[in-house]
Amino acid sequence: MFKLFLDPGHGGSDPGAVGNEIQEKDITLSISKVIQETLASEYSDVEVKMSRTGDTFPSLSQRTNEANKWGADFFLSIHINAGGGTGFESFVYPNVGVPTTTYQNIIHDEIMKVIGLNNRGKRQSDLHILRESNMPSLLTESGFIDNPFDAGKMKDPNWIQAVGRAHVKGLERAFNLQRKNPVYDVIIPNLSFWQARALVPEYEQRGYNARGVALKNYGPNEAPSENDPYQLVITTDYENAKNLVIEFKRRGYDRTYGQQN
Ligand SMILES: [Zn+2]
Repeated sequence: MFKLFLDPGHGGSDPGAVGNEIQEKDITLSISKVIQETLASEYSDVEVKMSRTGDTFPSLSQRTNEANKWGADFFLSIHINAGGGTGFESFVYPNVGVPTTTYQNIIHDEIMKVIGLNNRGKRQSDLHILRESNMPSLLTESGFIDNPFDAGKMKDPNWIQAVGRAHVKGLERAFNLQRKNPVYDVIIPNLSFWQARALVPEYEQRGYNARGVALKNYGPNEAPSENDPYQLVITTDYENAKNLVIEFKRRGYDRTYGQQN
């Protein structure tokens, strides 16, 4: 059993960084919920304890004390940056060495594959949660809330999904986590942005893990146009995947297919 202590930064009376009409505490909780839900629904032998699941503010000591008392295998703290920069960076305790730096390398690289932001590097810092946690620990800073480009990403639910799932992918590789078998993707490969935007909430409301995936790269400050190419991806078990492929084909999405994930 792998025990993850998951720490959405800030919360409650402490908004964390703010900018572009959003607050760090909300973004860190959204990303953390994707991580928690993905691990619970798609992986076996994983237990997740969160420092908070709502808009509350446990102190830093409460967070590390709880993780230490619980005997977590890994402490993952989710944050958003501010202060005039742009991009993604991750932190471990100074000179902590392996295996923590190995975990940092793997998780950092998985996040860089999808986050669509500059790489600010794998860094070290004497932060409370890194210093006072008794187990290997990592803190991620997924973009700068005071940068309009980075903040634009944070306002996109598909980006939140992708960044959360990349944290999970990194954990899977770092700790050799096992998937619940089998997991399938149902894919509609030939949608427009507006179609994906309409389908994602429809299937999320039915409890599915649905997301839109852009099929072109966007430059800084470039938003998707209505007719840009998009895919819809729904990750689920075999039985649901089979039924969804039939359902989508019946709805006229002829090119829908399922594949083992
Ligand atoms: Zn923070």
